[in-house]
Amino acid sequence: MKALDELTFDNRFARLGDAFSTHVLPEPLDNPRLVVASSAAMALLDLDPATAESPVFAELFGGHKLWAEAEPRAMVYSGHQFGSYNPQLGDGRGLLLGEVYNQAGEHWDLHLKGAGQTPYSRMGDGRAVLRSSIREFLASEALHALGIPSSRALCVIGSDTPVWREKQERGAMLLRLAPSHIRFGHFEYFYYTKKPEQQKQLGEHLLALHFPECLEQPEPYRAMFREIVERNAELIAKWQAYGFCHGVMNTDNMSILGITFDFGPFAFLDDFDAHFICNHSDDQGRYSFSNQVPIGQWNLSALAQALTPFISVEALREALGLFLPLYQAHYLDLMRRRLGFTHAEDDDQKLLERLLQLMQGSSVDYSLFFRRLGDQAPALAVAQLRDDFVDIKGFDAWAELYLQRVARDPIQGQAARRERMHAVNPLYILRNYLAQKAIDAAESGDYSLVRRLHQVLSRPFEEQDGMQGYAERPPEWGKHLEISCSS
Ligand code: AMP
Ligand code: MG
Repeated sequence: MKALDELTFDNRFARLGDAFSTHVLPEPLDNPRLVVASSAAMALLDLDPATAESPVFAELFGGHKLWAEAEPRAMVYSGHQFGSYNPQLGDGRGLLLGEVYNQAGEHWDLHLKGAGQTPYSRMGDGRAVLRSSIREFLASEALHALGIPSSRALCVIGSDTPVWREKQERGAMLLRLAPSHIRFGHFEYFYYTKKPEQQKQLGEHLLALHFPECLEQPEPYRAMFREIVERNAELIAKWQAYGFCHGVMNTDNMSILGITFDFGPFAFLDDFDAHFICNHSDDQGRYSFSNQVPIGQWNLSALAQALTPFISVEALREALGLFLPLYQAHYLDLMRRRLGFTHAEDDDQKLLERLLQLMQGSSVDYSLFFRRLGDQAPALAVAQLRDDFVDIKGFDAWAELYLQRVARDPIQGQAARRERMHAVNPLYILRNYLAQKAIDAAESGDYSLVRRLHQVLSRPFEEQDGMQGYAERPPEWGKHLEISCSS
């Protein structure tokens, strides 16, 4: 275990030089205080969880103090936002403080979000508000606990600094951890500004530090792009399987490592709705739940365009062609497990599609449906779930096929089935209304709800004593929350 002043830095991205990022100091928050910290994320830096309570912790992550070895930098990048290229992006309110390496030899980027203005702030104030910082904190740690690759969150620091959004709010900072903060938009920036030397420098940095196994291939860039396609296919399969809607899949919000990145108006589905749009500024539904799959591929094509100096168009096309089949295979594999099947059958996809069709337009809670399906013996479970469907006859017909399908699976007792299904079907999910309740309390100075929600979501598959309230269907008001995009 290390104390805060014992962290060891090795700022590899900063060393790329001024073409990639600009030195900027954090602007401190007034009266910084700990809102919540993740002991699991602290362990990634070998930090003792008790350190979170020390005043110096809030000072460091509230922008008041800095390690001598830290080199805070705002990164430059661009990207496609809602389909249009925006050449003017970059860290407008976040700073890469440096890269810390832990005892296991892993490097973690320390990124302080809400740290004040930078040369890339455009018209923005460089700040993040408490509500959006809490949402990102809860989501990153919850996704990780579900087994979905994500950036991590070390802590949220609250303050008295006034920040103006639709109304006056309070500024906060979130300390984000990720193995790298390189986005698709980094490559787009150097491609569209016609800086081939720097683009090559970035590519080599990425290959050496994050895709070293690709360097052993005859065409390292080609191997790396293929790997990026594979990781994204798997990531988006997990989003779709667990009902996670990102909301702002612009290419500047896509991590080159294939992890969930840059949280805004995201949501987990409550009632199943394939066409769900969680971002209220997304009038056309470009980033609706079911569009995440084609958009994932679109984003990879935008990245492919930026990689044309390194990789032949044919090789890029070939790799892009892998996206959908890989996505489908991962998705189906996960959904089979969610349905309790232990082996694959040809008709599984049809069975699953029919179930989702029946859910559409009914009021079926997406997460609880799968959890309840494993709670009881299959016949009893479907009998208890049928009332939630509008087309009950349709559901009964589906249930008959489902029961036949279960019967063809290797025979084992209900206890084993339940255990297997519960290990992939969470009881607790970060519902918008749960986040909202915790945020409302935090805004009036009570951080206990945020902390408890974080605890519950860190073990989403295990039933926890006294936490039944977190495992229920949302109240009607909770299903229709408008999450503001201005964060
Ligand atoms: P986002 O929608 O959060 O991914 O942000 C898109 C771009 O706007 C990024 O370049 C951000 O750094 C920048 N940005 C967002 N909010 C602010 C803010 N309050 N101040 C300065 N820049 C911001
Ligand atoms: Mg962003």
